[in-house]
Amino acid sequence: TGRHRVAIIGGGSAGISVAARLRRAGVTDITLVEPSDSHWYQPLWTLVGGGQAALRGTRRAEASVIPDGVRWIRRHALAVDPDARTIALSGGAELAYEHLVMAPGLQLDWDAVPGLAEAVGHDRVASNYAPEYAPRTWELIKNLRSGTAVFTHPATPLKCGGAPQKIAYLAADHWRRRKVLDRIRIILAIPDATLFKVPEWGRVLEGVAERYGIEVRLRSEMTAVDGDRREITVTDHATGRTETIGYDLLHAVPPQSAPDWVKRSPLADPAATLGFVAADQHTLRHPRYPEVFALGDVASLPTSKTGAAVRKQAPVVAANLLDVMNGRTPSRRYDGYTSCPLVTARDRMLLAEFDYDLTPRPSFPLIDTFKERRDMWVFKRYLLPQLYWRGMLTGRL
Ligand code: FAD
Repeated sequence: TGRHRVAIIGGGSAGISVAARLRRAGVTDITLVEPSDSHWYQPLWTLVGGGQAALRGTRRAEASVIPDGVRWIRRHALAVDPDARTIALSGGAELAYEHLVMAPGLQLDWDAVPGLAEAVGHDRVASNYAPEYAPRTWELIKNLRSGTAVFTHPATPLKCGGAPQKIAYLAADHWRRRKVLDRIRIILAIPDATLFKVPEWGRVLEGVAERYGIEVRLRSEMTAVDGDRREITVTDHATGRTETIGYDLLHAVPPQSAPDWVKRSPLADPAATLGFVAADQHTLRHPRYPEVFALGDVASLPTSKTGAAVRKQAPVVAANLLDVMNGRTPSRRYDGYTSCPLVTARDRMLLAEFDYDLTPRPSFPLIDTFKERRDMWVFKRYLLPQLYWRGMLTGRL
């Protein structure tokens, strides 16, 4: 029929992990749609912005991570027609599939905050959320001796919910060591009512913010940027009041949503406003199109979007897809596991792991992960990247 047995859209953390697992299970005729020649290990971008890792160490050639035996189509998916089971590709071609794995990640909506798209990457505005702007974060942190530093957090779902505050702690610790911390006013604006939604870790983070003298603005969001005047507008959602704050350093995290072409597709979750792909939260299978699975940042799941979540989702998608291909009902379940390595200092980390119920789910039951630890920082900086490239992307871990 010319149909590919399995099509995977997106060769990031999720797409490559699933491809590797399917290949290990002996599946042939897998086609990967991925336009980029780079594969990024994004969790290290926080440390790039904090001056503790080099950007080049977070990139590998896409070709080097694609498993043997997987056909790579270097194009953008532009649309999916799940009734016809076809994908429209950039350049005009079309690809037909029997089974589809949706893993194109999410979209950074720089345009959703007036002035942000113009300001980011220039002058005093940086962001760890894109490789082109993360090195600037460190340039700005390193050069600041006094003034006001503002760290923002969008009100949409975002990847790695802890990342907007981690960089504030790394910056503050650097300024503390340089003995300029008392000359710098640090503001962290967060739309939620607490610093972290799992109270066990939220309490610890309150102490961390207090230690550095960070002004935490809860229920607050950056709603405009004026890069020329170096000012932002912060809206307090509790009172509806807005305030103009001048900055000498702005670390901005953009609003995020499903890629626009996903929002427009019949695969989008009608119950979610931002167009993420509908998926059963346990089997990760699409509720209306049984041959479609979704995972990673693009999936509409009530858990935090992280690479750690992908590590637990990929085996579930691979196993359940094999079940479906063999005429069985999906047998594996995902419980919402996610993890957020909360860097709280230049040599300390708090490892928060939890599931759909926000129940702590420690992978290391013998150590106390409710306090800041040096061994966990070493784990994040040195061990996790190795486990990612060698274990997760090859389907072994
Ligand atoms: P991605 O890895 O982003 O991959 C998506 C892929 O789809 C990309 O290769 C892209 O090129 C491709 N694509 C895009 N559009 C199309 C298209 N139209 N057609 C085909 N392909 C397309 N996670 C953690 O676990 N721990 C952390 O400490 C952590 N820290 C983070 C810090 C920062 C600053 C950031 C930005 C992220 C962090 N994350 C962290 C989150 C983690 O990186 C993501 O959750 C993870 O990469 C999601 O995997 P994914 O495959 O869904 O998306």
